[in-house]
Amino acid sequence: MESLSILGCRLDAVDADAATERIMGWAQAGTGAQVVTLGTEMIVYAQHDERFRGVLNACALSLCDTIGVLSVARRRGAALADRVTGVELVEKLCAAAAREGVPVYFLGGAEGVAADAAAILEVRYPGLRVAGTRCGYFAEGESDRIAAAIAESGAKLLFVGLGSPRQELWLAEHLGASGVGAGLGVGGSFDVLSGRLRRAPRFVRRFGLEWLYRLVNEPHRWRRQLALPRFVWLIALDTLRAPRRRTGASA
Ligand code: UDP
Repeated sequence: MESLSILGCRLDAVDADAATERIMGWAQAGTGAQVVTLGTEMIVYAQHDERFRGVLNACALSLCDTIGVLSVARRRGAALADRVTGVELVEKLCAAAAREGVPVYFLGGAEGVAADAAAILEVRYPGLRVAGTRCGYFAEGESDRIAAAIAESGAKLLFVGLGSPRQELWLAEHLGASGVGAGLGVGGSFDVLSGRLRRAPRFVRRFGLEWLYRLVNEPHRWRRQLALPRFVWLIALDTLRAPRRRTGASA
């Protein structure tokens, strides 16, 4: 697997189909693998939070979620055709889980959002076994009970949409107790899949302007989106310091 480091965060040059295959393998085998879709904001946040950076880098798979990360990865030689978003990955994994009879659990979002997303996906992918759903607004003290409920549900694949960094930290701490073979953070994917939030039109995404669309439609995100110019600045500094970077390869 070809991997590279972007500002100290590992990124694996793996596309959506290959990622789906790997994740399904872990889900079936009961590996207990954590997967992250690495975004620009996460990398910026990780610069100041060593624990979070450690969690990201300990993931079994780190996929490229945003256009900013994709363009840096490509410039550094990564063979990546496109990014791998949470929504796309949830869809592909549900299609595969329906085919292979793998039970799936949806954790996250406001009351009813995960359940609605799961119900829509059950119709879209006949045979999909939804082991359970739960809303994502709970006190930290409830986490052990929630992980035990996931384990009891028999789920092998877990989608966690609590937003970043909470979902990555939650998975790092509770994936083991939840008994699933694979767990991944999916951000606001349930909002989109349940129909509550519209995704940017395809042409907007193609031009790399999804961030602008989201800023207009979810203006409360403006503070978080300051991460974008910060990312550009940090990459510029990093490029000046290490002009001859190469991608590395690992097994
Ligand atoms: N959320 C949650 N629990 C929380 C905070 C957030 O379930 O304590 C959900 C929120 O409802 C939304 C998602 O997490 O569905 C966060 O989406 P956001 O767009 O912020 O995440 P991103 O996709 O940018 O990582």
